[in-house]
Amino acid sequence: MQINLLGARVDVVDLAGAVERIAGFVQSGIPHQVVTLNPEILYRAQREPALLSLINGADLVTADGVGVVWAAKVAGTPLPERVTGIDLMLALVARAAAEGWRVFLLGASPGVAEEAARRLQEKHPGLLVAGTMHGYFPPAGEPEVVEMIRTARPHLLFVGLGAPKQEQFIARYKQALGVSAAMGVGGSFDVIAG
Ligand code: UDP
Repeated sequence: MQINLLGARVDVVDLAGAVERIAGFVQSGIPHQVVTLNPEILYRAQREPALLSLINGADLVTADGVGVVWAAKVAGTPLPERVTGIDLMLALVARAAAEGWRVFLLGASPGVAEEAARRLQEKHPGLLVAGTMHGYFPPAGEPEVVEMIRTARPHLLFVGLGAPKQEQFIARYKQALGVSAAMGVGGSFDVIAG
């Protein structure tokens, strides 16, 4: 089920439901984009039609922020709970370790994604890390980054470039990346790396 919030479609899912939906994406083998929608982006999308259509073109949109959950309640279409980028990432990483899915971490300052991956593997010894790459490459370097990810063949791609840059990157290269589930995670790698 979905609701419409200020023109943006938001899926009525809790954290466990979002993980199940994404497990389905991985099984499909077809590229999917997941957006955790925060109030800043929803607000910005009111003035940026391209951003609004990006959100509405995503395969799963969760409410990332109490403001979004609150607005849905006021609109008479309540959402079960807030599903943030970091919570969803951590739940997916646990599932990935159990299922044997490969994960790729793209974003943050040099060294941070590697350290985040190391810490995640410490917590989940079976976790398969397909690769990591920092997020400070010029626009001209994008095709090379896309190729690196494509050849690493991850099942899950976490992109921490900040919103909405990360969502735009995923949308632009969704097919070229060929990743079953790609999502933006903001500053999550910094948090995980500690
Ligand atoms: N970042 C990046 N490349 C850029 C700009 C930002 O990799 O060109 C990273 C930055 O190092 C940080 C994350 O993107 O790890 C943004 O974190 P923030 O919490 O600001 O994300 P937001 O909550 O705004 O989505």
